[in-house]
Amino acid sequence: MPAKIEKYDLFIDGGWGPASDGRTFGSKDPFRDEDWAQIPLASAADVDRAVRAARAAFPAWRATFGKDRARLLRRLADLIARDADRLGAVETRDNGKLIREMLGQVKSLPDYYNYWAGWADKIQGDVVPLDKPNMFHYILRQPIGVIAAIVPWNSPLLLLTWKIAPALALGNVVVAKPSEYASASTLELARLVEEAGFPAGVFNVVTGFGDPTGVALTTHAGVDKIAFTGGPETARAIARAAGQNLVPLTLELGGKSPNIVFEDATFENAVTGVLAGIFGASGQTCIAGSRLVVQRSVADRFVARLVERTRSIRLGDPSDPASEMGPVCFPQHLERIDSFVREAEREGARVAVGGRKPQGRADLGRGYFYEPTVLTNVRPEMHVAREEVFGPVLAVLPFDDEADALRIANDSMYGLAAGVWTSDIGRAHRMAEQLESGIVWVNTYRAASYAAPWGGVKKSGYGRESSAEAIHELTYAKSVWIDLSGQIADPFVVR
Ligand code: NDP
Repeated sequence: MPAKIEKYDLFIDGGWGPASDGRTFGSKDPFRDEDWAQIPLASAADVDRAVRAARAAFPAWRATFGKDRARLLRRLADLIARDADRLGAVETRDNGKLIREMLGQVKSLPDYYNYWAGWADKIQGDVVPLDKPNMFHYILRQPIGVIAAIVPWNSPLLLLTWKIAPALALGNVVVAKPSEYASASTLELARLVEEAGFPAGVFNVVTGFGDPTGVALTTHAGVDKIAFTGGPETARAIARAAGQNLVPLTLELGGKSPNIVFEDATFENAVTGVLAGIFGASGQTCIAGSRLVVQRSVADRFVARLVERTRSIRLGDPSDPASEMGPVCFPQHLERIDSFVREAEREGARVAVGGRKPQGRADLGRGYFYEPTVLTNVRPEMHVAREEVFGPVLAVLPFDDEADALRIANDSMYGLAAGVWTSDIGRAHRMAEQLESGIVWVNTYRAASYAAPWGGVKKSGYGRESSAEAIHELTYAKSVWIDLSGQIADPFVVR
């Protein structure tokens, strides 16, 4: 029997309603291959209304005392905690990721809102001692204005929270656009924003496709900053739009992250870490450790054990807490993953395990599953070793010594994350210092916190989310000069 379709509305200026032209689109459940929700397709007119509402709300919101903004954020945190089970279930339904992963993410969100509530009344300027007599100078740190927050489907509420919790705490207003593949949880969040009592227009949601909705938002002259998480092609389009309007931009993009295993690593911990790095979330994470860079002396033994562990991964219904890998998000993505593996094979790579869609598994229904895959005989120039697959496909690249490991790890256009597995503390620090990436994990992988900066270098983007670093992304420094002398100055020289 087809699922009951949940119907959603847009959230603009504190009110709910359909898209102005009445258009909608279906959101598919990736396990059942059927629509489960009807989402409004926001037109350029809807986006315009949302941006105008945000602009109108900005002066009062930025003037609201920090302690009062904090109170609302804390209330929102409590409401998210109250509804975590529902929000997690909605995300699993939308993107097919495991309920244990989505629930874990949703349960971490209150910590982010509470952390930023803590900052809301502590943003202060500075008095700067200058080498100029009778000149008093200070810095005011001020919110930027309307933030367009655009996120992908793989972790909708977590990635959105990284943007909106600091933005709202610091006095900005937000227009959010989730992915067409996973919009429902953002609209559910908007219900909680409303229930928490945020003023109308402070937070707005426009759902729809990249084009027209995303394009209308990123090209809108009323947007003051764009905070984007997604893929490189979209990032280029958005960077062009930001360039056209001359607005600042933060980009959280993908990666080809190396998980580097030295011969002195604690063997089974490293196997688990590599497995988690690539098969967690079916590889659909920006920080997927999709290159196993392993010391040649232990490579065969390591890969053999990894293959053994991989064979025992339980694929299944993502809403079943016992499942370990769910489907990928949509059919075209499944085909794209498969085409990476087929191309790698043609170029001489060997499939050590996986490498296809599961066959004859009635329990997997009509889900878009791909077997967890390990590829050996990979050469660094192959596509599968250079491009983000965003699926459960691991490319194995052996190395000889530390210098070789660094060279292979850094030989990438990306630089989001890296894992280092070693019991040599000196080596751990040397690697951490020299790896070209925004995040380094030593003897662990896939860890995140509200208090730790998140972001990449090279083609993995720029700007940082989470931690005090985000304050600089979402406020600007205003330089204030006050003459104390009362003297008339020479008008023809700079003072
Ligand atoms: P996309 O770049 O395709 O989409 C991201 C968002 O941008 C979606 O909401 C999308 O809408 C929207 N969008 C698409 N085209 C435009 C446009 N022209 N103008 C404005 N908005 C647009 O990314 P994916 O959804 O494929 O997400 C996967 C990518 O995200 C991977 O590269 C992954 O590495 C990266 N990512 C990075 C993270 C980080 O923290 N660094 C974290 C998680 C993922 P629509 O869905 O409707 O097309």
